[in-house]
Amino acid sequence: MRNALTSLFLVMVLFFYSFQINTFVAASTGNELRNAEAFSGKNNYHSNAKYNISTYYPRHEAAYLNAINQMNAVSGANIRLARGSTPNINMRSINSSNYSWYGHASWNSNSALLRLNNYTTTRANYTASNYNKTAMHELGHAFYMKHQHSSVGSVMKSGKYPYNSYSSLDKSNLAYRY
Ligand SMILES: [Zn+2]
Repeated sequence: MRNALTSLFLVMVLFFYSFQINTFVAASTGNELRNAEAFSGKNNYHSNAKYNISTYYPRHEAAYLNAINQMNAVSGANIRLARGSTPNINMRSINSSNYSWYGHASWNSNSALLRLNNYTTTRANYTASNYNKTAMHELGHAFYMKHQHSSVGSVMKSGKYPYNSYSSLDKSNLAYRY
């Protein structure tokens, strides 16, 4: 009986110890992409960018406007986005079941086309903060930000998450590049 109790105790200690190790690993996986590694390039227009929002959906417009404001508010970065007639950043919407994505970006160093999909986001019961996250995510692509791991605090991870501003990691990375 005493040996059995000792064994049980040891098993519990080992279980607890392994749990601690796992917790430690999970808290410091090093999955964050930082500074240069968080980018695949750099756009040319960041300090004098013009944007245009054209959408039928007020929720999309609100999210795009928030994304612009949040990007302009990144301290330490030389980023200035203003509404303009010859835009570098075109913000649009679609309403299509032909695509699985919530938001999409195509971009090069001089311009970007960002789109939110009303069909998929409505089906996924998107909240305002979900729209804000996706709009900031696509705008992040226009700034050549790469996807972050799902465990990282960042608007640059893929999927439905609630964010109303860029994370501290995102802001740090944008300040580094721009
Ligand atoms: Zn993406």
